[in-house]
Amino acid sequence: MTTGHSDVVIVGGGIAGIATAYYLAKAGIKSTVIERDGLASHASGFAYGGLSGGIPNGPEPNQPIIQKSMGLFRELAQELPGQTDVDIQYQQRPALKIALNEAEVAEATRFLTWQQNQPGYNVEWIGAVDALMLEPRINPEVLGALYVEGGSDVEPYRLTLALAGAAEKVGVTIRTGDVVGLRHHGAQVRGVALDGEEIQADTVVLAMGPWSGAITEWTGVNVPVRPLKGQIIRLQAGGDPYEYSIGHHKNYAMTKPADNFVWCGTTEEEAGFDESKTIDSRDAIIESTLLMLPALADADLALQTACIRPVTPDNVLMLGGMPGIDGLYLATGGGRQGIMMGPGMGKTIADLIATGATDVDMTPYNVGRFTS
Ligand SMILES: Cc1cc2nc3c(=O)[nH]c(=O)nc-3n(C[C@H](O)[C@H](O)[C@H](O)COP(=O)(O)OP(=O)(O)OC[C@H]3O[C@@H](n4cnc5c(N)ncnc54)[C@H](O)[C@@H]3O)c2cc1C
Repeated sequence: MTTGHSDVVIVGGGIAGIATAYYLAKAGIKSTVIERDGLASHASGFAYGGLSGGIPNGPEPNQPIIQKSMGLFRELAQELPGQTDVDIQYQQRPALKIALNEAEVAEATRFLTWQQNQPGYNVEWIGAVDALMLEPRINPEVLGALYVEGGSDVEPYRLTLALAGAAEKVGVTIRTGDVVGLRHHGAQVRGVALDGEEIQADTVVLAMGPWSGAITEWTGVNVPVRPLKGQIIRLQAGGDPYEYSIGHHKNYAMTKPADNFVWCGTTEEEAGFDESKTIDSRDAIIESTLLMLPALADADLALQTACIRPVTPDNVLMLGGMPGIDGLYLATGGGRQGIMMGPGMGKTIADLIATGATDVDMTPYNVGRFTS
């Protein structure tokens, strides 16, 4: 058995773990990130990368972290180019959430007053003529669209890589390893156990994405996070890029600068930890995409990806200190918005570790809320 030491150990090399390492490093605290498969090799490397500000969805308990994160993204877009060569492809992008029948109009306008009161966003309900003027390729049967300015998007794999590279430059260690348990001394965490190895640390952050359920056994604190599979297809299409983020129901499409393909999604599949691509989901995404954008009927399928999201029973983050175990923190539950909330989650955990406090009301994210 070999033994190492780090001030802070972070388990998980997805956006939640890497953003935590980045913001800890900014606060002068070095950490070791342990990832068993590869940096951003799961959802954080294959997500769509839409940063909607949560505006189309309406009010929800994750809003404080979402808005904190949206501000951090604006800062990262300025500061990362000086720290890494990886371009995260952050860009402001207006969204059009279209409605094709009266029920969808009612749904899309349900939170309009709340949406219009959110600082930093411009939200309007526009009619069919205006919607078609902005994007003539949307379904001509459109009745109208929610027009949202203030959102943006990013390339998630590059984002995670850029934060990791910047963190490594200031002393963060990122290494391979499969964490199989924790080490405690009384109520104080003392490190993590890997196969044939231990790393001692008085502070441990668990950012294990959909695999967070294992923490229940390690700690006795119920962490009922489940995997929710989602797939995306990328289409090679002629004509101008789709500059708006087009949305309908829970589906979306836009041209991403990473490859100039139109990225289209998505699915919500209860398939356990299976991350394989399926023909049924490919066909379902093509169908939902053509309903939004019939002009894509002639496009060629360039790529299909599949990955799993970490989802909590109430769709609210589990973020903060673990009850009853000093020095142990949890950062998970990003669900469909985990890229958007990643910097906010990382900064919040880093603030808690560095100063013992954060400017966010942590009540909704209480890690002990599922433990009786
Ligand atoms: C199709 C799809 C589209 C999406 N689109 C968007 C979007 O547009 N906007 C948005 O905000 N979000 C989006 N998401 C959601 C987002 O991708 C996830 O919420 C986010 O990536 C989760 O990040 P994470 O770091 O919590 O988990 P992950 O990215 O899963 O990272 C967790 C890491 O922990 C590692 N790990 C787990 N257990 C151990 C262990 N015991 N030892 C060592 N390592 C371990 C895993 O290998 C993994 O790499 C999308 C997701 C999907 C599936």
